[in-house]
This record gives sequence, structure tokens and C-alpha cells, in this order.
Amino acid sequence: MLEATPKEIKTRKALRVNPCKTCEPVGALYAALGVHRCMPHSHGSQGCCSYHRTFLSRHFKEPAIATTSSFTEGASVFGGGSNLKTAVKNIFDIYNPDIIAVHTTCLSETIGDDLNSYIESIDIPEGKVVVHANTPSYAGSHIVGFGNMMSGFIKYLAEKSQAKTDQIAIFPGFVNPGDMRELKRLAKQMQVHYIMFPDTSGVLDAPNKGHYEMYPQGGTTVAEIRGLGAVKRVLALGEVTCTPPAMVLQAKCGVNFTALPLPIGIEATDQYLMELSRLVNTEVSDSLTEERGQLVDVILDAQQNFAKKTVAIYGDPDIVLGLTAFVLEMGMIPKYILTGTKSDLFSKRGEALFAKFGVSGCQALNNEDLFTLHQLIKNDGVDLMIGTTHGKYIARAEDIPLVRAGFPVLDRYVHSYMPLVGYRGAMRLLEMICNALLDRRDRDAADEDFELVM
Ligand code: SF4
Repeated sequence: MLEATPKEIKTRKALRVNPCKTCEPVGALYAALGVHRCMPHSHGSQGCCSYHRTFLSRHFKEPAIATTSSFTEGASVFGGGSNLKTAVKNIFDIYNPDIIAVHTTCLSETIGDDLNSYIESIDIPEGKVVVHANTPSYAGSHIVGFGNMMSGFIKYLAEKSQAKTDQIAIFPGFVNPGDMRELKRLAKQMQVHYIMFPDTSGVLDAPNKGHYEMYPQGGTTVAEIRGLGAVKRVLALGEVTCTPPAMVLQAKCGVNFTALPLPIGIEATDQYLMELSRLVNTEVSDSLTEERGQLVDVILDAQQNFAKKTVAIYGDPDIVLGLTAFVLEMGMIPKYILTGTKSDLFSKRGEALFAKFGVSGCQALNNEDLFTLHQLIKNDGVDLMIGTTHGKYIARAEDIPLVRAGFPVLDRYVHSYMPLVGYRGAMRLLEMICNALLDRRDRDAADEDFELVM
């Protein structure tokens, strides 16, 4: 299907082919779904809203609720103020959320709709809240939109407080509900009182109860978001995604933050646990030490199957950096790491990891697309690809095994329940990577080399 991709790489300025990102509102919608009893609202055309919902539903295999201002020609010319006013009334009357989180779209941004003044002029029922974030897709990716929506909640709701609680705020970044559950499990084991924001566990991995619940049990509550202004400290997990909202909270409420890499792999998980340990003055439990030891053990047991293998990793910046750190810990060579999100910090951190592990000839590319990745692979191939479903066409064209990880994974199931973070997440990653390479060896083995024991 992609066999015709040319080998020769030419500089492109504007054109993107097979983007490695999606639009800002997708991230904003996902962040809003991580707030309890929240209705995400797309201020634009119905087409945008359908696309965002479909995209999320295809990854999580769950309904992603959202409403829309339903722009037609009139709103596109004269502004969407009256559409929003009608929408807010209808949403509270019909769906009764606690909060509506409005995000803009390319259209409403281009015509210059002023959401601050629209929301100020709307009659909002007692005890209900409407917040907004600006998410013009031509200015950023879904990762930027996710951060902007977090900042929107903080700007409207977080309350400055002189008295601090003993809580730690954990910003998990754009990760699966399974990752959020794992981050919370680790925090609980460290006896940390925390607020996770946002938190899609219990929302996009809610159990089937035999009836539909528009607002499942999970999600950060409005009260908890208000309380972010009084927490002891914020742990922003994933520097690229979570530093901007952490800075907004710091500026508004004076809450300091520590930005850490996403806890994927051994060292990043160690850092997460040690920071929690430092903040609440607890020891890392024996059970977590045991999990770490098991992970080290399986790496050593299986290392002959992946050591020195080359890999291309692509997707969202913080996940790619986390995966890169882990494959380096496994002794692999991340020849290409690539994100579609514009972030010089990503390239800087990637280069720093290459230098730290002493691997040469590797490239860290931001604001790039999968067409570029394909051309790089055509010129100098890799043993394995790790990333989203969008890479499957390259994997097929070049006959490379693919491990699916990150967002979106559209052609597999269960992935959103299973963590990549923590020692357990790393063990699962190792299993997927090792199995993909062993399956390839089996497939390619001649009869006389087809081994029972590997
Ligand atoms: S028009 Fe903009 S906001 Fe709407 S789907 Fe396209 S990129 Fe996303």
C-alpha cells in the first residue's frame, strides 16, 4: 500500500503526509472526560464534534460523550454566541451535567469568537459551572489541546489558599485510563493523599452494568479541581504535556510543581516513587521493591532476544520519550524517535537520552510526520517499530514487526485498560516487544532452525 513511498527525502515546509498527531479538540475532549459529571462541548460545526468523538471512541471502545454548538452558515458569519447560549440551556435541561467544558474549533477561532464574554453573558443555573479553553487546531496537536483544557479548568476553578492540605496533585498527562489507575495504585502504596487531574479511569474503562450511565463514577470532581490551589505540590508527569497547566496553576495559586518524565521504564518509575517518598516522607514498600526486582530479572532473562536491536518509536512526545528510555534500559537502539507535536524540548530530551546511554546515529524529530519516518526507514531500516496504529501501513510495506503503544490504537482491544507506566507496565511492554521479535524469528526460521525452546 505504501510501497511507492520514495526513498529520497526532500525538505517540506507546509505539507504533512500521514500526520503523527490529531487535532487540538480531541485532546481537550479527552481531558474534559476526565472530570466527573462533565459534558465536553465543541464550539463549532457538527462535523468537528463527530470526528473528535469517533476518534476517541475508536481508541477506547467506549462512547465519548460531547455536545456541539452546531454552527451553520449564520453562526460562521455572525459568530456563535447565540448558538452557545442555546446549547448551554439545552445541555443543562436535558443532560444535567455538573459542568460544561467548552473547547473551540478551527472555525470558531478563525472568526474570533470571544468565549470569555459569551460565557459571562450566559445564565448559568445555580451550582453549575461552564469553563472553556481555546483549542485552534492549526496552532497545536491533541497534546496541546489536552494541556489547554487542563489550564482552562484551572483558570476558572482552582482557588488560591494560604492553608495547604497534605495532598499532592498528580497530572498524569494524555495516557490511558489503565495508566492512570496504575499511577494511583503506586501513589496509594506510598500512602500519598492525592488529587489526580484529569482522571479518565472509571469513565473510559467503566464496567458494563447492563444499563447506560452518561456519567460513570470516575473523574476528578469540581471540588477537587477547586482544591488544586491548596495542594502541597504538583507532580507534572510528562514534561511536554503537563508543564504548561502546572505553570498556570503556579501563576494563579502559587502551587509549586515538579516536572518528571512519564514513569515508563525503571529509572522514570524510580523517580516517580522517590519524589512521592520525599514529599510524604514514606519508604518505598517491599512489594514495590519486589516488582522492580522482577522487572530487572525478566530483562536479564530475555535480553539476548532484544539487545542491540534497532527500533523506531513514534507518537505523542512524553510517551515516546518514556518508551525510548525503557528500550535503552533494555539495551536496544532507538534509531528514530518521532512526534508530530511541535516540541523542541522533545528533541532535546531525546538527544540527552541517546547521549546518556552512549548510542550513536539516532535521531529525535519533532513536528514531523509518518511519511518522513517511512523515508528514514526505507533508507536505513529497523528491526522493530513501536507506536500507534497509523504506523501499520509502514510496518506492512517494509515488513517490520509492530508493537502498538500510545494513542491512538484503533485496531486492537484491551490496550486502554493495560498500563505502560510503572514496573508492571514496563514488564508488559517488555513482553510485547520480546514476543514481537520472537514471533518474527519463528516466522522467518527455516524448518531445521524452528526451535521449541527460545
Ligand atoms: S476543522 Fe479543526 S477542529 Fe474541526 S476536526 Fe478539523 S482540525 Fe479538528
